[in-house]
This record gives sequence, structure tokens and C-alpha cells, in this order.
Amino acid sequence: MSKAIYLDYAAATPVDPQVLDAMQPYFSDKFYNPSANYLAARAVRQALEQARSDVASCLGARPAEVIFTAGATEANNLAIQGAMRRFPDGEVLVSSIEHESVLEPASLFKHRQIPVDAQGRILLNKLSNLINDKTVLISVGFVNNELGSVQPMREIADIVGQERKKRRANAVKKPLWLHTDAAQAPNYFDLHVSRLGVDLVSINGGKVYGPKQSGALYVKAGVTLTGIILGGGQESNLRSGTENVPGAIGLAEALKLAQDRRKAESQRISTLRQKFIDELKQAIPDAVINGSKKSTAPHILSVSFPGVDNERLMFQLDEAGVQVAAGSACAAGKQQPSHVLAAVGLSDELIRSTLRISLGRATKEAELHKFISLLRQFTTV
Ligand code: PLP
Repeated sequence: MSKAIYLDYAAATPVDPQVLDAMQPYFSDKFYNPSANYLAARAVRQALEQARSDVASCLGARPAEVIFTAGATEANNLAIQGAMRRFPDGEVLVSSIEHESVLEPASLFKHRQIPVDAQGRILLNKLSNLINDKTVLISVGFVNNELGSVQPMREIADIVGQERKKRRANAVKKPLWLHTDAAQAPNYFDLHVSRLGVDLVSINGGKVYGPKQSGALYVKAGVTLTGIILGGGQESNLRSGTENVPGAIGLAEALKLAQDRRKAESQRISTLRQKFIDELKQAIPDAVINGSKKSTAPHILSVSFPGVDNERLMFQLDEAGVQVAAGSACAAGKQQPSHVLAAVGLSDELIRSTLRISLGRATKEAELHKFISLLRQFTTV
């Protein structure tokens, strides 16, 4: 059988060989607990701190502002629960298309949703109206994992800035923090926190050709969270537990590579994406591309095939050697239609006809060509 055509990079990316090499010694020879005091362990501590520094550089942050976590789910939980537990009478605002790892922790507190337009971009005027003196945290994902839509982080940050100014003028003490789940962003976008204007950023090794269950939360100096995993006090008391040293080193290496390559990779994937769309429109004129044309990440495409059952199509494609998602990997195990596609106005019927196609470093034009011919075969009855 020929090699499978993998088109689910938004769910998982293979670990880059350079990343694996960097991690390897920390599973074996350099296995020491970084909190131990003998020389060999202190060298491991040094390597962990170097990884923190490298991640910080990619974000334009200080090393002390980087907290290693086990992936983006944990980083999102730390941001939301860590902020909201400190202000139990406060409110968190989340966009209606956030990942479950944002929506679920937000649902533990007083919360409201910021609506999005048909392209999956949050409505800035609605956001302004939702903010009040109780708002402590606003969480808006940088790149949506089902649609690929990109949020105008700078404009959101400007709205937050205006609100902070008002609060200062009215001597309101409650802080207002802006969090972004950037799990899908680092392969294609600049992550400098000052340019984004954010206070908290979640990142994820498993989406950037690093190891799964590695990740980090950027916590701007002055943002005072409560730790949600308690114990030995590691990671500035915000995430107890012996550090995942190979994971942190893998994340740092992967993130550096992703940021070094992001411009070239963005161009290459954008070109592939456009060719794919043009060819798809010719082959299957009924196919509907969801999300934003302009403000999109290059790698994620949400496509509906009216009248076609997406689960069945996914299985047919799998048998023919193409791995693609019917919805996001997290939503795929659920029977409910995607809340993201519903939020941009797709009917249940159309949602059940939608595939998420996501491209990555190994994607080739010829693979997309073959994929389209299979799509045509399976969607025309
Ligand atoms: N946030 C977004 C936008 C994602 O796409 C994902 C994974 O699909 C996550 C968070 C959660 O990542 P993990 O399951 O690796 O913690």
C-alpha cells in the first residue's frame, strides 16, 4: 500500500527529527530531577531554563513569564481558572468559537460569549458592549482550530486598553486581562506578545512538530494567577509536579524551528491552499468553503459537501489512504454538531457534511490532486 496522505495537521504533527534529537538525552543519560542539588541535576535545571529562555525569545517575553504545562488544554485551564479563582465575583468573556479547553473552564465561572460573524471573526462592537466593571478576563483564540479564522488580536487589545484607561479614571481596582489560545498559530504567525497586545498566551508542542503533552502559558509580569495544580511549587507555584524536561526542551526546539520557518512555510502552504481551492471548485462546484477568505491561517480549510455524510466520507477516504477530519479531533468523538460551525451559521445538516482539511510541512501538491479526485469519486452519487 502506498503511504497515507495525511491532512489532519491541526490535530497532530509528527515530531521533527531535530526536536527528537534534542529531547533524547533527557530521557536517558540526563534523566535527573531538575530540583535536585548535585551537579548532574543542576545541569538538567540549566537545560530546562535554557528551554524557558528560548520559548520566551520566540514570544518576545522574559523567561520568568513562561510557565511550562502539559499542552494547551492545561495552559488554557491555568489561564482561565487561575485568573477567575482569584476574582470569584468577576466575569470571563470568551468567543463563541473557542476550543472546549477554554469553554469548559469558563463555564465554571460567571461567563458570557462574544459572538462571531459568518466568517468566524469576533464582533468587536459586541465585545465592547459586553465588557463591564466585573470583567476580569477576555479569552479569544488566535487561530480557530476548525475554521482557520484569525482574530484581530491587536484591535481586541486596543479595546481592552481603552477599558483599562476608563477603569483607572474611575479608580476601579479589578484587573482586565486578555488571553489568547495560540495553539494553532506558531507555524504561521508572529507570536510576539507586545505586538499581539496580550497578557496570557497558550501554546502547544503537539501542533508545532514537537511532543504531545508539552506546552506553555505566557503570563505577563504583574498578572497574578492562582496555581491550579498544587504540590511541590514548581513553575513559580503555578504548575506543581516534577517538570517534563524532555517535553520542555522539545517544545523550545520545535517552537524555534516553527518561528524560523514560518514565513516560507506560510507562503508555501498558502499557495498550495489556493491551488486546492481552485481545483476543488472545478471538480466539485457544490462544495462550500467555510470561514474567512482574507483572515485565515493557511493550513486549515473547512469544506462542506451538501448532501454528503461527513463521517461516511471520512471513512471512505481513510480506506483509500487519505486521513482527514470530520470536525476537529476533540469534537470528533462527540455526537453533537460542532459549536464552531453552528456559531458561523451552518445548519446541522451542513455541519454533518463538513470536513476539516489541514495541511502541513510534508503536504505536496500531488497529494492534494489525488485527494480531490477521490473526493469527486465519493461525493458524486
Ligand atoms: N486549543 C486549540 C485551538 C486546539 O486546536 C487544541 C487541540 O486541538 C487545544 C487547544 C488542546 O490541545 P491539547 O489537547 O494538546 O491540550
